[in-house]
Amino acid sequence: MTFDCFGLSADILRAVRTEGYTTPTPIQAQAIPLVVAGRDLLAAAQTGTGKTAAFTLPILQRLSAVPTRHRAPRALVLTPTRELAAQVRESVRSYGRHLPLRSTAVFGGVGINPQISALRSGVDVVVATPGRLLDHLQQRTVELSRVEIFVLDEADRMLDMGFIRDIRKVMAALPQKRQNLLFSATFSGEIRKLADQILHDPASVDT
Ligand code: AMP
Repeated sequence: MTFDCFGLSADILRAVRTEGYTTPTPIQAQAIPLVVAGRDLLAAAQTGTGKTAAFTLPILQRLSAVPTRHRAPRALVLTPTRELAAQVRESVRSYGRHLPLRSTAVFGGVGINPQISALRSGVDVVVATPGRLLDHLQQRTVELSRVEIFVLDEADRMLDMGFIRDIRKVMAALPQKRQNLLFSATFSGEIRKLADQILHDPASVDT
């Protein structure tokens, strides 16, 4: 199998080639076509399986296929840690290097002003930890009413770290109609309950 059969644009395939990827990983082979098709997704995936590209590549495909004039975020990825937020944002930047899409990472432990400037200048994809994103929501320095795709990455770790209330507050700022992706390494009752509440007629992938 190759990346050519997923309906990804030439600009995205070129970036994938630059990364040196030749064969999709199992999670990518399953998830990419479903996300490109607009489905909600419940995905069981450990780190190191290529899960970041599994959601980033089809998100970039969907966003670039339908350009918009507004500069409010169209995709939001929540991660449990700053390190993961920075890493996912780097992936978004690399895979989107030939696309006219902008991204930024928003996380705590660093100054808020550069993040405010980045958000104000207009971004398509925001990768964030829940706490700092809520600060931006409260200060009205981010506007989430145009989000088309919402991703919870490492959802089990987010629940373990006590982020459930923050996640719910963030979700209250999102439009009702959107595509939702939930990635988790483990599936407790709590994760299933969250998945039931967030996902609409989800496809499941397990590798
Ligand atoms: P992740 O599970 O998203 O943290 O990715 C783990 C690592 O696998 C990262 O360093 C990626 O650059 C790499 N990777 C992702 N997809 C592929 C692929 N299809 N072929 C080779 N390496 C990949």
